[in-house]
Amino acid sequence: MSLENLGIFIDGQVMADANLATIDVINPATARPIKRLIRGQAAEVDAAVQSARKTFETKAWRRMPTAQRGQILLKISEAIRANEEHLATLESTDVGKPIAQARNDVRTTARYFEYYGGMVDKVLGTTIPVRWGALDMTLREPYGVSAQIIPWNYPLSMGARGIAPALAAGNCVVAKPAEDASLSLVELARIAHAAGLPAGAFNVVTGYGQEAGAALVRHPLVSHVTFTGSVATGSAIMKMAAETIKPVSLELGGKSPNIVFADADLAAAAAQIARVIVLNSGQTCNTCSRLLVDKSIHDTLLEQVLTKFDQVRMGDPLGGADMGPVISAKQKKAIEGFLATAEQDGATMTRHGHPPEDSNLRDGFFVRPTVLNNVRPQHRVFREEIFGPVLAVSSFSDEAEAVTLANDSDYGLNAGIFTKDVERAIRLAHEIQAGQIYVNGFGTGGSVEVPFGGMKKSGFNREKGIEGFLNYTQTKSVTFHFKTE
Ligand code: ADP
Repeated sequence: MSLENLGIFIDGQVMADANLATIDVINPATARPIKRLIRGQAAEVDAAVQSARKTFETKAWRRMPTAQRGQILLKISEAIRANEEHLATLESTDVGKPIAQARNDVRTTARYFEYYGGMVDKVLGTTIPVRWGALDMTLREPYGVSAQIIPWNYPLSMGARGIAPALAAGNCVVAKPAEDASLSLVELARIAHAAGLPAGAFNVVTGYGQEAGAALVRHPLVSHVTFTGSVATGSAIMKMAAETIKPVSLELGGKSPNIVFADADLAAAAAQIARVIVLNSGQTCNTCSRLLVDKSIHDTLLEQVLTKFDQVRMGDPLGGADMGPVISAKQKKAIEGFLATAEQDGATMTRHGHPPEDSNLRDGFFVRPTVLNNVRPQHRVFREEIFGPVLAVSSFSDEAEAVTLANDSDYGLNAGIFTKDVERAIRLAHEIQAGQIYVNGFGTGGSVEVPFGGMKKSGFNREKGIEGFLNYTQTKSVTFHFKTE
């Protein structure tokens, strides 16, 4: 059976040129190809960027009345909600995430367009008192063409995290989804244009990072680059962007700790710790993959975490499983490599959960929830991001040691603190080097309102919230001189 091609989305239309090379899309639950992506090259990227720039320069988007621009984004939000099941099914099949998680991602995607649609006409400039005889005001202007290089773990919601504010601020967008998961983003572009977005405002070129991705970052008409992915690729992107002095926003993952003190509600902590590392098979940048636990409660807490891990049912992402496969054979192999070195380093490994029984899923890229105990700072699994359902456990004797362990990382994306001692929570929230601190719970409940981003090698600049909108604007100051006599 020949596979259908997923077109690229340029200038308001799906283009599926049969002469272009393709990449097979693999369903990670079955390891079988389900579609083909167009392997976009510099020529496709150039067509997309030219279209975005042309739209940027006309009245079609940036110069439209702000209320109208906001209304189009709100219509896109409604259309995403109306297509929830369709988009969630694509995302679940492509990424391997359970359908319930994919539905949540679609709701978050809709919220980004709603939130930033409402912000279009509310971000104000300032007037600055300079001196008698002059009046200064500031304008917040869009950059032009915003390049969005998107990872495979949350294509829709992370795509929307950058695309919605970029559009809201008046930019036009060219997105390059990851070669492992592109289906939903092309569909998002189609839905957005059907909802009223002008042709050229949001283009999607599929393909490999080193080809389509690099051509996009290097393109002289691209004015701003947003990237989420690995540290190595983020560094390569910064270097490419440096050649043409493009500002970049980087979100580069983490090795975030959950820190549990003896006075914490252990049942609640255990439930969060297990849930978060199983979410999307551990392939979430702000997951907490290190557990730092007070040694006086180490065994009690771990027992509760293991009980949760033992209950995890792995299986068909569309069929109600708690956990699906990881994204690819390559990712599975990388995780297994980490586990092998952890054992050589002296960590104790236990594997949990119920592997899928369905023979159809025999070749799928499933990895069981795994706990590595007695992990020390010099171990590779303490320092490097595994990006799988693997929890590395270390213990501490006192608060000072907990902080030292938490900060003993090149990364600084987020950290969880479990304690009933409010003063300690406040102290640690200040001392821990991370962009997000979660006290007695995980995350922000999927909210789009809270600024998100990293410190240290987790990246810089903030997405989400008002800061996310400002990230897509540049300030211009205008000074008027007037005669005083
Ligand atoms: P992973 O190794 O897990 O796929 P990456 O950080 O390499 O993570 O990929 C994240 C995104 O960056 C993907 O869309 C990928 O295609 C893209 N990418 C990878 N390499 C480059 C590159 N050299 N230039 C631009 N984009 C890239």
